[in-house]
Amino acid sequence: MKVEKCRHTVKCDADGCKNLADYYITTRGFIKNEFAFCEACLKELYAELAKLFVPRAIESHFKPDRVVKRRKNEK
Ligand SMILES: [Zn+2]
Repeated sequence: MKVEKCRHTVKCDADGCKNLADYYITTRGFIKNEFAFCEACLKELYAELAKLFVPRAIESHFKPDRVVKRRKNEK
């Protein structure tokens, strides 16, 4: 799945939105097709997704060096 800048003149897929799409989400067959969204709707979608998937810093693969060093000292 990928989010790309929309290069065509298409309407936003959000129900009731009359803006032109700024970005589209390509699903490459993962879901049935592509979704096109304007920036405002995509930001709204992002805000909703952020409520579901809160990134947890402790599980991050890219820990800052100071955190790794501190952990080694604790053991
Ligand atoms: Zn929209």
